[in-house]
Amino acid sequence: MSKQAMREDAERLVREAMEKKGVTVKQGDTRIEATCGKCGAKNRVTAPKGQLRTKFACKECGHKQDTL
Ligand SMILES: [Zn+2]
Repeated sequence: MSKQAMREDAERLVREAMEKKGVTVKQGDTRIEATCGKCGAKNRVTAPKGQLRTKFACKECGHKQDTL
């Protein structure tokens, strides 16, 4: 294997590792089971990592609200 090929292989591994990291961050998102304040339907909402409140629109009636 030539030196250039080895370098390209190393770059590819770094890129793959970074992509995996991105997936890990996504898995760290908070899943919230939110009950709609208008119709009482249960909604599964995903909030960014470390955040417990997020805006969502009810899947049943479309009412926009914040999770409690
Ligand atoms: Zn609703």
